[in-house]
This record gives sequence, C-alpha cells and structure tokens, in this order.
Amino acid sequence: MNPASIHELKDKFGRIHNYLRISLIEKCNLRCKYCMPADGIPLSPKASLMSAEEVLEFARIFVGLGVNKIRLTGGEPLLRKDIYEILEGLSKLPVDLSLTTNGLLIDRHVDNFRKLGVKNINFSLDTLREERFFEITRRTGFQKTLDNFRILHDQGFNLKINVVLVKGMNEDELVDLVNLTRDFDVSVRFIEFMPFDGNSWDCSKMVSEAEVLEKLGAHFGTERITPLPNEENFTARKFKITDYRGDFGIISSVTNPFCGTCNRIRLTANGRIKNCLFSNQETDLLAAMRAGENVETLILESILKKKAVRAGMDNMEKLSDPVLHSDNRSMIAIGG
Ligand code: SAM
Ligand code: SF4
Repeated sequence: MNPASIHELKDKFGRIHNYLRISLIEKCNLRCKYCMPADGIPLSPKASLMSAEEVLEFARIFVGLGVNKIRLTGGEPLLRKDIYEILEGLSKLPVDLSLTTNGLLIDRHVDNFRKLGVKNINFSLDTLREERFFEITRRTGFQKTLDNFRILHDQGFNLKINVVLVKGMNEDELVDLVNLTRDFDVSVRFIEFMPFDGNSWDCSKMVSEAEVLEKLGAHFGTERITPLPNEENFTARKFKITDYRGDFGIISSVTNPFCGTCNRIRLTANGRIKNCLFSNQETDLLAAMRAGENVETLILESILKKKAVRAGMDNMEKLSDPVLHSDNRSMIAIGG
C-alpha cells in the first residue's frame, strides 16, 4: 500500500473516520466505580507513554489522513504536566479541538483554553449530591467540581455534561440532572453503563434509553419532551424540555448502538490504535513510529479490520459474555 495514496480512513463498510480521540494519560485523580477497579489498574511504564512531541506527530499524521476533529481524554487529561504544550501544538492544526474532563482542575487551565481557542468541553458529573459523589468517585472534590462547572458555563464554553447512568447509583437523579438544562444552557448526556475489564458490569445495572424516556415522560409530561434533529455522526439522540435553556441526550451504545455512522478512532496513552471502543485488538503505533516504520499503513490496516457493530459483539448475548468484554481494557486506560 502506498501511503501517499491514503487520503481518508474509509473502512470496509464505507464509514469515513475523521474523528480521533487521544488518551493522554492512564492516571486519574478520581476512581469512578464504573470506570476502573477500586485498586486501580496496572500502569504502562513511563517510557512507553507518548511524549508531547509524539502526540503532536501522531496528530499531524492523522490530520494528513483526513482527521478534522480531535478530542483529548484519559484518565484525566488535565493531570498531564505538558498539557499546555499539547494544546498549543494541536491548536495550530486544522481541527475542531475538544476535551473530556472530570472538571476538578479546570480553574487552573481555563485561561489557557480561552487563549488557545479550546471551546468544547465534555464535563463528567454523575450526581448533584455531595455524599454520592464520594461514593461514586471514591474521592472528595464535589464542591470544586461544581465551582468549575460554573466557571466554564459563565465564561460561555460549549458544555456537555456526561452522566453515566447506573441502576442503584444515580438513576433517581434523572429529573434533577435534566433540570440543569432549565437553569443552564448545557447539553446533559446520559450514557448507558458499558462493560469493561473490572467494572462489575451486568446488564441489570443498565438504564436503557426507553426507561429514561419513560421516567422523564412521567415527570415532565411526554408533550413537553421534544426530539431534536440528529447531528451528523451523532452518538446521542437529543431532546429538549419545552422552554428549557439547554437540551439532553441519550447515548445508548449498548441497547441501541450508533455503529452505522461511527467516525471515531482512538489512540491510547501508550500509542496504540483502537478501531472501536469495544475492541480488544490494538496496534502499537508508537513502537512502529519509534522504529521508523510506516505508521499510515498500520492505521489504515486497523481501520480496514473494523467490524460493523461493537467489535463483533453484535447482540446482547455476546456483549454480556464476560470472556469477550473482560479482555478489553478498563475505560480509564482506553479514554472514553
Ligand atoms: N477523566 C475524564 C472524565 O471523566 O471525563 C476523561 C476520561 S473518562 C474515561 C471519559 C468518559 O468515559 C467519561 O464521561 C466517563 O463518564 C465515561 N465512562 C467511563 N466508564 C464508563 C462506562 N463503564 N460506561 C460508560 N461510560 C463510561
Ligand atoms: Fe477518572 Fe474519568 Fe474514569 Fe472517573 S471516568 S475514574 S474521572 S477517567
């Protein structure tokens, strides 16, 4: 394959991959129950993690292959000491740049976000109750998180609030969380609990899209819940409560996946490409780049191996099979 001839990352099903999610770090300052085991995960040796220069080199390669949207994630991306250098380098590329964060360190970085034009922030917040925040994240920091949410909101950032809904954890806060969209111009997105290594997933803990809509309909009245048009390559079906400022969405990767329009590829903090969130197949691009090999060809090969639906787990039976999903890394080591 001649790399000069690769202009876009099209898979066997005609899906063009123009959206790269880069995980910058495997560490986190929280320990969310649904994301990682209580005793943490084995971390990659420092030398096998991407340096800032390597992150930027990969970004340039992917942009050359048609990527025009990059999201930084982790672990907690704002824990990277060289986050400014990375953001500054990426801000010079022709990409829509965004970040997913738990929000705890926002106040230290917000001026740099404004300076570098980083406007789109996905902010994870699963509860509006302090005690519950501690139960879910196994750490303190609730008030700081809320204060940082206000800072971003008041400074006019495009804010999406990510809520992982888990039965017995926070599904009783559905209405309160939707009411955030009455008071703030934000998009609240409810994410179905997904299975990963060590997160004690079982399908009875999931709150499906149908249940969310039923509960909200019972509270607000179905006539006040208006579906919004789907965005291109959408992952969330969006709705709005009449007269509320913001909107809410449901990301149902498990019960009703969006694979047909998927345009995403992932690069882990140790430089491996994952062609699907659910896939345990990875290609070590970092080792290849350090060895001076042709990375473009490896990227395209990975895209061509992408399965039509959830890495081949095309039904609930396969998805519920612990052998299949526990081979996959924890979310913290993938970068959601
Ligand atoms: N630390 C940052 C944060 O929490 O926003 C970025 C990394 S985190 C892995 C990215 C997203 O993945 C978060 O919104 C988190 O809620 C989501 N996530 C983690 N584990 C999940 C799971 N098992 N099912 C669904 N979403 C999950
Ligand atoms: Fe950390 Fe984000 Fe995972 Fe929570 S969801 S443990 S904040 S990486």
